[in-house]
Amino acid sequence: MSGLSNVKVTAIVSDKFDSTAVISEALPSVTVLNGGTVNGDSRDGGGEFRNGVLGECREKKREIVLGKNVHARCLEVTEPDADDEWTGDKEAYMASVLARYRKTLVERTNHHLGYPYNLDFDYGDLAQLQHFSINNLGDPFIQSNYGVHSRQFEVGVLDWFARLWEIEKNEYWGYITNCGTEGNLHGILVGREVFPDGILYASRESHYSVYKAARMYRMECVKVGTLVTGEIDCADFKSKLLPNKDKPAIINVNIGTTVKGAVDDLDLVIQTLEECGFSPDRFYIHCDGALFGLMMPFVKRAPKVTFKKPIGSVSVSGHKLVGCPMPCGVQITRLEHINALSRNVEYLASRDATIMGSRNGHAPIFLWYTLNRKGFKGFQKEVQKCLRNAHYLKDRLREAGISAMLNELSSTVVFERPWNEDFVRHWQLACEGNMAHVVVMPNVTIEKLDYFLNELVKMRLVLYQDEKVQPPCLAADIGNENCACLLHKQSISVN
Ligand SMILES: *Cc1c(COP(=O)(O)O)cnc(C)c1O
Repeated sequence: MSGLSNVKVTAIVSDKFDSTAVISEALPSVTVLNGGTVNGDSRDGGGEFRNGVLGECREKKREIVLGKNVHARCLEVTEPDADDEWTGDKEAYMASVLARYRKTLVERTNHHLGYPYNLDFDYGDLAQLQHFSINNLGDPFIQSNYGVHSRQFEVGVLDWFARLWEIEKNEYWGYITNCGTEGNLHGILVGREVFPDGILYASRESHYSVYKAARMYRMECVKVGTLVTGEIDCADFKSKLLPNKDKPAIINVNIGTTVKGAVDDLDLVIQTLEECGFSPDRFYIHCDGALFGLMMPFVKRAPKVTFKKPIGSVSVSGHKLVGCPMPCGVQITRLEHINALSRNVEYLASRDATIMGSRNGHAPIFLWYTLNRKGFKGFQKEVQKCLRNAHYLKDRLREAGISAMLNELSSTVVFERPWNEDFVRHWQLACEGNMAHVVVMPNVTIEKLDYFLNELVKMRLVLYQDEKVQPPCLAADIGNENCACLLHKQSISVN
């Protein structure tokens, strides 16, 4: 059968297909910015740049652009040799690259503390699905003509989050996004479509994607100050609202800020709006729950995120606490808002209300799988563990004389930045100014924290062996009472 169809294809090709229509030359050679040309075969196993012009050029350029990126590595894509098919050299080369990469991933996963990703999962059952190109393009609730999708999983996951955030099935709309950023871009866009002349208010410590949204949508944007904890300062919010009473307000509320893990007081934000004369039909609140959107429901004293309050949308990242092995997120808004935003698209036989077109259809299955396995109770346990371990880390840091802060509703431990770039990179710590942080996720155990603390203390002994070099003061970042610098440590002991 297959032989026959081959013959047929060849016949069609020889009849109609003009083989000269395909460019016969090899790939053009790489032109380097400084005018030089590199055209070497760098199949040297590791794919590391040798001292070639290209390597140097890229390295220099990287330094300028990113400042801290010291990796001069690149796995070049090379053309197959004519004899590759029968020597098997290229396949062997690629297999060795992948095996080595896998080892790196294992090592890097074991030394990761700075970013809020839960790296503890087992999705072995889902490996069988990687052979499919699953794509949920378009609206999750409207069938498209593309049949290789996972909408049934997606809607199941959305229903779970709708229950969590207390909105009826027939009153919400949402979708599984590519990441927390897409949730913010979507939530703020919905706000802008509801209030085209609205002003966007966001605290200084909001995620950069919020300001990106303001630039993308050319919205007027007012930055609001923060308390030392990182929470929005509602006194400042009030002073920014009052002169703008004639324009509707679109507010980004942080359910966990990126650096300090601070949770804005949603109730106080709503109260402030009301005090300034904004009725619910004059404001739109988007809750950025990328970080702790799935943690707060399990923390007793946390302000409750619920659609029973006058909020417009909530988003969360799927690869952070939830532990999806690929970037994704969940965005939920009110159905009444979404009609302002959506357009019918005949080509899709669906409706366009999402930011992205094609959407990862694997992500909903991973989310569905992990929500089913853990359930509400499972997440509750994990959150308790995270908070307990975060307190452990904060206490040990303070015992070791290191400035540290942990917000009450948070598992983000902010502490003195280790001024040793190798150490920072080894532990993949996220830093800002004099601060570094560890976000304690379910995969961060006491043993790992002890190991980290030991190394940190050892490293600091070397760093500060000379009395003239003193640890930085963090009072302005995390408050006097959390600062262990020479000045504030003394003032604490005097009291
Ligand atoms: C991580 C984060 C985001 C962005 O989420 P991504 O999934 O990385 O796009 C937005 N807001 C906050 C508060 C975050 O911590």
